[in-house]
Amino acid sequence: MSQSELLVRRIKNGTVLDHIKEGQALAVLSALRIDGKDGNVVTVAMNVPGDKYGRKDILKIENKVLGPQETDRVSLIAPKATVNIIKNYKVVEKRDVELPPLFVNVFRCPIPSCITNSGEPITPTIEVVDSSNLTLRCRYCRRFLSVDELIPI
Ligand SMILES: [Zn+2]
Repeated sequence: MSQSELLVRRIKNGTVLDHIKEGQALAVLSALRIDGKDGNVVTVAMNVPGDKYGRKDILKIENKVLGPQETDRVSLIAPKATVNIIKNYKVVEKRDVELPPLFVNVFRCPIPSCITNSGEPITPTIEVVDSSNLTLRCRYCRRFLSVDELIPI
């Protein structure tokens, strides 16, 4: 076991998000709507050295198994992250974060005149037009949007 793996203690049950881009762990927690108020232990390790890509952040979320739909939410912030589901100290599932084709009710369109901001009962939907260069578009007003413009719901 490498030094970086020992840095944060092993968890019995829960989810470990590894290979988060350095400095992004708190943004990932926010996107997952995890604030620690449920009382479960959440360990945040930032700027951990020793990764082949350089430094990285790691999140350990105890007693919470994150499903693919939840971890897809972080794909724009941490596209290289790996998700490890831990049961009884063992990794029982390992998967990569994937960019979904659509973000449904995850981000709000930033255009004030967009119908999704008019109070109509319409679910904000952001389409991933091209995943290789992160081209995003609002399904309703058809504007192309950058990651920075999206407003998390
Ligand atoms: Zn829009």
